[in-house]
Amino acid sequence: MAKRDYYAVLGVEKTASEDEIKRAYRRMAIKYHPDKNPDNKEAETKFKECAEAYEVLSDAGKRKQYDQFGHEGLRGTGMHDFSRMNVEDIFSMFGFDDFFGSVFGGGRRGARRGGPARGYDLETGVELTLNEIAGGVEKTIEFTRQDRCQECAGSGAAPGSKPVRCPVCGGNGQVAKGGGFFQMVSTCPQCQGSGHVVQTPCSKCRGSGRVPKKRTVTIKIPAGVHEGQGIRVGGEGEPGRDGGPNGDLYCYVRVKPHEFLERDGNDLISVVPITFTQAALGASIEVPSLDGTRQLKIPAGTQYGSTFRIRGQGLPDIRTGRNGDELVHVTIETPTNLNDRQEELLREFAQMENRSVSPKSQGFFEKLKRHFGSHS
Ligand SMILES: [Zn+2]
Ligand SMILES: [Zn+2]
Repeated sequence: MAKRDYYAVLGVEKTASEDEIKRAYRRMAIKYHPDKNPDNKEAETKFKECAEAYEVLSDAGKRKQYDQFGHEGLRGTGMHDFSRMNVEDIFSMFGFDDFFGSVFGGGRRGARRGGPARGYDLETGVELTLNEIAGGVEKTIEFTRQDRCQECAGSGAAPGSKPVRCPVCGGNGQVAKGGGFFQMVSTCPQCQGSGHVVQTPCSKCRGSGRVPKKRTVTIKIPAGVHEGQGIRVGGEGEPGRDGGPNGDLYCYVRVKPHEFLERDGNDLISVVPITFTQAALGASIEVPSLDGTRQLKIPAGTQYGSTFRIRGQGLPDIRTGRNGDELVHVTIETPTNLNDRQEELLREFAQMENRSVSPKSQGFFEKLKRHFGSHS
């Protein structure tokens, strides 16, 4: 099977920082995690593909090899064959225990022994215009999270009853699989690591201890954010278990396409058509910018595809705040539907250039003959 580009697998740009790669991987791992996609082979394959991409892109040396030589460049660098590994083994790599613990409501200690555990992180998206990105913006986001059930105070047990110790793991929250040297320890499937189970479930939350609740938060988005970047809102994730802290909310940025401007890093690119006379003689033309249009002087003799840089008219850098530029690419429109006079002038022009052009249309030819006839 052909391998996909690792950056595409994680949905990051080639220039992504270590941190961005880690976040992207974490996001993908949540999405395709087998716990969230039971009996879904495709999700498992994707999960493994992401792990492979992360193994390479999180390692500066391997990433460099990959950037230079692609998948070929990784031969002999000791890559894992994730397709042959089971998901639990993948967890134990790269110190993923903590990593996934926090994602899946565990927190290492919590998952191991039951007891308090941090809540799940949540993710949501926000679409921003280039103008909003240029200035930074506050956005109000509505999302739904699983909140503690009021009826049973989150225990999941019907009022008057109590959860009991989990019979499968004896309250440890973890079970051991396999034997001997390679014994694997994993979260108890019966109690999901909490160490206790509910016998008489609460009617409102059906024993889960959670009910969906709409939340509204206002998020301050800094100027210069990029597509796919996540803004963390601490404590707005799902509530923790047994009094553990809430998870976080990650709000991922999507950029709304602009009618005239395209983003390239912190630069903006516009494509502006000009007439061939403007190109030949020079002109002041109107070009789009984030705050309306502005005038740009182009010199006589401008060629098709020339690029003009308007300094400081791009987007601010998220770290330094320094603005990028706007790059104006010009294209040249060939005139159509010439009137007689225009065609005449152009033919004269062509003659002076000594260039061969297509013969004139009959009507024009006749008129021209009459014209010359009357003057000579
Ligand atoms: Zn259990
Ligand atoms: Zn309840």
